[in-house]
Amino acid sequence: MKNYILFVSEAFWNTLKGLWVTLKVLFLPAITVQYPTEKLVPYPRFRGMLAYDAEACIACGMCVRACPSKCIALAKAMPVPQQELCSSSGQPVSPEGKRVPKIEWYTIDYGRCNFCGLCEEACPTKTKALWHSLDFEAVFSTREEMTRRWKRGDDLWGTARRSADGQFSAVADQIHIQDVPVRK
Ligand code: SF4
Ligand code: SF4
Repeated sequence: MKNYILFVSEAFWNTLKGLWVTLKVLFLPAITVQYPTEKLVPYPRFRGMLAYDAEACIACGMCVRACPSKCIALAKAMPVPQQELCSSSGQPVSPEGKRVPKIEWYTIDYGRCNFCGLCEEACPTKTKALWHSLDFEAVFSTREEMTRRWKRGDDLWGTARRSADGQFSAVADQIHIQDVPVRK
C-alpha cells in the first residue's frame, strides 16, 4: 500500500511539473513561422544558392580552379582588336584605357556543388562576382535545370537548362528569399 501511494504521488508530481512547463510558455509570443507566407532570414554567414554577377566578373578563372567539385566552367569573351578598343565596341575599358576581360558565358552545375564556399573565397574582385546568397528556396524539377548559365546582361540567377531541348531559358517558378542577396 505504501509503495502504491508513493507511486501515485510521484506520478502526480511529475504531471504538475509538466503542466508548469506548459504554463510557463503558454503566454509567451509564438515562435513558429507560417512558412511560406512568413520566412526567417538566415544568419549572414549562411551559404545559400550561389549568385553570380557577370558585370563584376573579370573572367580570371580562379573560381574554376578553386572548385573541388569541378562544377564551374566559363569561356572568356573574344578579345577585340586594338583599334576597336573603346567603350562603344562593347568591350569594357577601364578608366586607364586598359581592356577588362569579360565572360562569353559562365556555368555552374548546382547538382555537383557542395556549398563549400571556396569559389567565393578565391574570387579576387573587390565586389565579389560570385557569392553565396541567403537563398535557401531554389527548386529544381529536373537534373538538367541544375545547370545554370550566365551571359552578360543576365540577372544574378542566370538561366536554367531546359530538359526538353537542352537550351537555356529564364528561371521560372523560383522563389527567392530576397531579390537582391547579401554580397560580401
Ligand atoms: S561552393 Fe564549392 S563546390 Fe560549389 S561551386 Fe563553389 S567551390 Fe565549387
Ligand atoms: S567569378 Fe570571380 S573568380 Fe570566377 S572568373 Fe569571375 S572574377 Fe574570377
